[in-house]
Amino acid sequence: MKYLCKKCGNLYDANDKIIKCKCGGALWLDFTGKLKKSDIKQNDFTMWRYAKAYPVKRENVKISFGEGLTPLSSINYKGHKILVKQDNLMPTGSFKDRGVVMVTNYLNNLGVTKFAEDSSGNGGSSFAGYCALGGIDCKIFIPAGTSQGKIAQMKVYGADLIEVEGTRADVANEAMKNIGGSVYVGHNWHPLFVHGVKSLAYELWEQNEFKEPDNIVCVAGNGSIVTGIYIGFKELLNIGEIDKMPKIYAIQTDNCNTLYREFVGDTINFKPLPTIAEGISIYRPTKLKEVVDLVRETNGKFISVTEDEIKNELLKVGKKGFYIEPTSATGFAGLSKLINDNVINKKEQTAIIISGNGLKATDKILNLL
Ligand SMILES: *Cc1c(COP(=O)(O)O)cnc(C)c1O
Ligand SMILES: [Zn+2]
Repeated sequence: MKYLCKKCGNLYDANDKIIKCKCGGALWLDFTGKLKKSDIKQNDFTMWRYAKAYPVKRENVKISFGEGLTPLSSINYKGHKILVKQDNLMPTGSFKDRGVVMVTNYLNNLGVTKFAEDSSGNGGSSFAGYCALGGIDCKIFIPAGTSQGKIAQMKVYGADLIEVEGTRADVANEAMKNIGGSVYVGHNWHPLFVHGVKSLAYELWEQNEFKEPDNIVCVAGNGSIVTGIYIGFKELLNIGEIDKMPKIYAIQTDNCNTLYREFVGDTINFKPLPTIAEGISIYRPTKLKEVVDLVRETNGKFISVTEDEIKNELLKVGKKGFYIEPTSATGFAGLSKLINDNVINKKEQTAIIISGNGLKATDKILNLL
């Protein structure tokens, strides 16, 4: 397998030593999954039923909670029938497990037994959980001042937490220094991460009677949900299992909306503000132009919403029975806008992804009540 930099075209042999291109660009796995309906492992009730589409073979997956195949339900939302993909029900409480299980098994099979990740939230929780399961040493570099509530999960899993003063980029740089022989596994950089997240597309396809929804609404920070969904459906399109790409609608918060700004041609030099949607508070996405381009290719859009819209949606969606992270409520605020502005209509089929569990943010949610 090779890693490809789309900025400068450099190719590298895939291994555990390299995480970004010499030019500073993000690396992509040069790999296309080829899975037909008949290749699905019918007796495997996890995301690994689509193993033929992945860069890690099923027999090489040693560290697994039996993740994936989260429920897809259908709700009435503003008179529209909306499919709701509940990744709040993943083993560590967010969709990140889909990418982390791929990266963890790939690296551990290469002999890596010490991981370093930079995160203040779900990426860190997920790596800490999988490392606990796999007996892997796990260091999580967190921004100084991260609330105790957020780090409880990582602590219980037994991760080694290291506070770093400075910006979010400083935290990442520290994690990349191979302290104590650790290997940087950062979910915003690792090329295999999105090839785990793409299981979302395969599940949506099968759970929707082997059909692609017309529209998919999801939130975007660094853009791995967007990218995973794009890659998965693109692979299904390439192999002839679906007729067209779903339109991807990626939602951001006004307080930190770099991808949205790039999409509409606005300046990306602005002062990001704190947001209740902390999972998408990413000022400098690692694949900025690439993620904007692929949303554009699907004829979808980036949408930016206010903090008040996010808070209102969290409470509204709760009344429908979904207890979700404020970050994920951003997606519903975007969906509401798409419906109000007649961008999507009732004849189309629309799916939304819930990316994280409300139980992760009890303190923040209490403040809304
Ligand atoms: C990480 C995260 C996101 C954003 O994913 P990106 O890959 O950064 O776009 C969204 N929701 C939740 C709950 C997250 O943890
Ligand atoms: Zn490059």
